Amino acid sequence: MKQVHDVETYTRKMKNQKINYDKVLRRMTKDWEKEQIKPKVLLHSCCAPCSTASLEFLAEHADVTIFFSNSNIHPKSEYMRRANEQKMFIEQFNERTGHSVGFKEDDYRSDLFFKRMKEEGLADEPEGGLRCASCFDMRLDRSAEIAEREGYDYFGSAITLSKNKNSQLINELGIRVQQNYTPRYLPSDFKKSNGYQRSIEMCKEYDVFRQCYCGCAFAAEKQGIDLREVNKEAMQYVKEHDLSMKKPVR
Ligand code: SF4
Ligand code: SF4
Repeated sequence: MKQVHDVETYTRKMKNQKINYDKVLRRMTKDWEKEQIKPKVLLHSCCAPCSTASLEFLAEHADVTIFFSNSNIHPKSEYMRRANEQKMFIEQFNERTGHSVGFKEDDYRSDLFFKRMKEEGLADEPEGGLRCASCFDMRLDRSAEIAEREGYDYFGSAITLSKNKNSQLINELGIRVQQNYTPRYLPSDFKKSNGYQRSIEMCKEYDVFRQCYCGCAFAAEKQGIDLREVNKEAMQYVKEHDLSMKKPVR
């Protein structure tokens, strides 16, 4: 029978220290190798850059599907551009490497994201603060829910590759989320072991689109991003790529 490892079996003895989740993942993948298993992983990602080096490492050890669940992204045209770029990156990655990474897109429910931020009073939080914690939690929880519904062994997030995202927090949230589900949380800190540098190289190799703001309207406004201009460019992209605003990219 396939054994699914719980991250906490690796971290139990590290309670009073800062955990290196990259090392924990590497120990876990070594165990998969010893057991000769390639588990099914649903890996959340919010645009192509963070999925590059994460996939290069993880697809060697697991049967990975990228889960695009990002109702935080505003406006919808920009969401569609990022979803399509993510899908196209995976297609090229599979072609070049021979892997069979899957792509799965969630429903776009920006109304739920705005409602959540309003109810929790987080709209004015600075980037990196409580609003982002809630946003990570929302997407990790949804990843776990879909992983459970579709029989995945693990759920996790490629966002730990970003230098601007707090990997300790993301891992702590993932570990908390797994308490309510059967699939186990996949620990990671993909930026480590040269992952971030490798992602820059891969973005060039694959000509990956890099966005200029994290995703939500709140952060974009604080950053002084002109969302009308973003919408104009993204709508042009939607048209050029023959996408429909009424249909998901999947
Ligand atoms: S954290 Fe930023 S760079 Fe990484 S996938 Fe999300 S939006 Fe893209
Ligand atoms: S800045 Fe990024 S992580 Fe933070 S709430 Fe906005 S979209 Fe989510």
